[in-house]
Amino acid sequence: MGDSAHQARKSDHNDGNAFDLTHDPDNGVDCNLFAKLALLDTRTTYVIWNRQICNVSDGQWKPYHGKNGHTHHMHVSIKAALRNVASPWPWASIES
Ligand SMILES: [Zn+2]
Repeated sequence: MGDSAHQARKSDHNDGNAFDLTHDPDNGVDCNLFAKLALLDTRTTYVIWNRQICNVSDGQWKPYHGKNGHTHHMHVSIKAALRNVASPWPWASIES
């Protein structure tokens, strides 16, 4: 779900169709890697990470000019129809 900042604007978070992951490589969450892995999952529609956005429909990373550059967390929007699919995300199999 979206935090108060997200709720103030249109966001997939408000519908439960997105999640954020904090970049924390020391604890196994390396968004430089996870952003790529998220794009491999059928649930994902697009990912925003480190001033770039990639939509799975074309797979191309493009500059992201949003106010929040997403340099400390990555954003993953998912398909509403697949939001209840509980299978592990690709990074679940990474050993840390
Ligand atoms: Zn987000």
